[in-house]
Order: sequence, then structure tokens, then C-alpha cells
Amino acid sequence: MRAAQVTSAKGAIQVVERDVPEPDPNQVRMKVQASGICHSDSLTKEGLWPGIRYPRVPGHEVAGVIDALGTAVAGWKVGDRVGVGWHGGHCGHCDSCRRGRFVLCQVAGQIPGITYDGGHAEYMVVPAVALARIPDSLTAAEAAPLMCAGVTTFNSLRHAGAQPGDLVAVLGIGGLGHLGVQFAAKAGFRTVAIARGKDKEALARKLGAHHYIDSQAQDPAEELKRLGGARVVLATVTSGKAMTAVLGGLGIDGKLVVLGAAHEALEVPALLLIGGRRSVAGWPSGNAIDSQDTMAFSEMTGVRSTNELFPLERAAEAYDRMMSGQARFRVVLTTGA
Ligand SMILES: [Zn+2]
Ligand SMILES: [Zn+2]
Repeated sequence: MRAAQVTSAKGAIQVVERDVPEPDPNQVRMKVQASGICHSDSLTKEGLWPGIRYPRVPGHEVAGVIDALGTAVAGWKVGDRVGVGWHGGHCGHCDSCRRGRFVLCQVAGQIPGITYDGGHAEYMVVPAVALARIPDSLTAAEAAPLMCAGVTTFNSLRHAGAQPGDLVAVLGIGGLGHLGVQFAAKAGFRTVAIARGKDKEALARKLGAHHYIDSQAQDPAEELKRLGGARVVLATVTSGKAMTAVLGGLGIDGKLVVLGAAHEALEVPALLLIGGRRSVAGWPSGNAIDSQDTMAFSEMTGVRSTNELFPLERAAEAYDRMMSGQARFRVVLTTGA
């Protein structure tokens, strides 16, 4: 099979021939149809994940079809359309797992493309516990980005405490944010998109935003306050400064939910938190069933990622495109299967 692998930290992404993997008893083999390139692929490419071993095939937004079953797998059959995301397996016996928080497994949390070979290949093997079922009406290329960007925005939003009609802001309209705005609007929130520049307003409104704040021309905190204060701000940008700048726009019980892996620290005034019972929290994607919920909601409401498609052979170019920040909006590899 063909696979796009990284042979060493900071090494090139190269398409090579490899043996088709065989599933262990609790795994299935997927024939990969589409594999999204996420910013977190850089953890593999640049060697930023502690202890990562090479060669490694990146890819944790994968959609395809079950091609072979391990001997102990129940509940799935060959031909089922499935996806796998950041949650790529778990130990099943640590306290987190026993509470159902599989993505937070403390013992053997597994991430496709980091702890084992991921989806930028024609085949991959995956623990059956990490599979999400893809609804009929979603194509593989539509499903793949929902397995990381989609579930991260949808699942964080539905657990953030906002009720229908509440003011919810999405900071940044990129790969995550363009999904976040759609999910927020379709879930019945008064949706505010915050981005840089007047030119993004038309897009934001097309995605469903009821309000648009141009953070270059306006003070986003003041504008949010003027709208009544946000119950939730989904921060999809990777700038700690931009996140800090919206904090003052949180309303009573307002929560800043951090999704973007910013390297800069956030500055959070203690009195701002205390005075309005405000909080700052993070959220890491979700379990496989959360990905399945994300796809079901997307099927029902028409939420879709806008994707640039590249064939697997052009994985290196596709990765550079994603890293350039110029992609509109997710970059997805296709195998032709
Ligand atoms: Zn990701
Ligand atoms: Zn565990």
C-alpha cells in the first residue's frame, strides 16, 4: 500500500510503499478513503510529541470502510463506513476510562498518527472501541474533518453551558472556527463571529453568524458587552493575546473555552472571574461516540466543512498548504478508494 510517512523529527513527508497491516484481535483494518490534515499533524512532523517513534504515518481525521475484522471484534462488520479521530483507543481500566472519559485515558491513551500509524495511507488498523459510524449521506471527504475539527467544536460547545438563545461567540474563522460558527447557529445560539478584517463578514454571515465583530477595527470585548455579554466564547485561534482581548466580553457565568493550542500565556484578571462567576476552560475533542454525534448533527442540519482536496501522493504539499494558514478551510487527502 501507499503511505505518507515521516521518518524523523522535522523530516520530509514521503509517500512510500508499505505492507498492508493486519488487525490485532481487538482492531479492525480500515480502507482509508479520506484523511484530514490537522494542525496537530505538526506534532508528528516536527517531533513535538514526547516519545514519538519514527517512521510514523500522521493522520487523525480519517474516514473509510472496514476491510477486515480482528478475531475478537463484535458489533462491526466488513463494509461498515467508519471514522476515527483524536480518540484512537484507551486502556479501559484507569479511573478516567471507568468514568467514560476515554479521550482522557491516563494510562494508554492512543492517538492515530502519533502513538500508532494514522490515516495518511491506503489502509490503517484501529482499535474497534475508537470507531465512529458515518451516516449514509456524508461522503468520506465530508466526514473526515468532522473527526477532529468537527467534534472538537461541536462537543465543546454542547458541554459549555449555553442554552438556546444565549450569546455564543466564536473567535477565529479558520479550520475550527468555520465549523464552530455553523454549529453554534444551528444549535440555536445567538452567534457572533469574531475575526480580523471587514472582508470576512460576508463569509461569517453565510456560515450563520447573526453578528460579526472585526477585531482589527473594533474592541471585541466592548462589542460583546454591547450585545449583552457572551455566555460562551469558543476560542479557536492560536494567539493567547487574541484570547485575552475577548475576556472582558464574557457575561455573567461566561466561559472562555480554549480550543486553539496557543503557545503564549493568557492573562486573566482575577476580579473579572470572581465578579461575574466567569471561567476559562479547555476542551479536548471527544470520544468516538461524540464524533458519531457530531456527524449525525451535521447530517441533520447541513453543517459541512469546506475542504481543499489533495490526492495522497501530494501529502507533503497538502501539509504545507495547511501550515501556510491560507487553506479554505480544511485540507483533506483522498486515496481514490
Ligand atoms: Zn486534529
Ligand atoms: Zn484509561
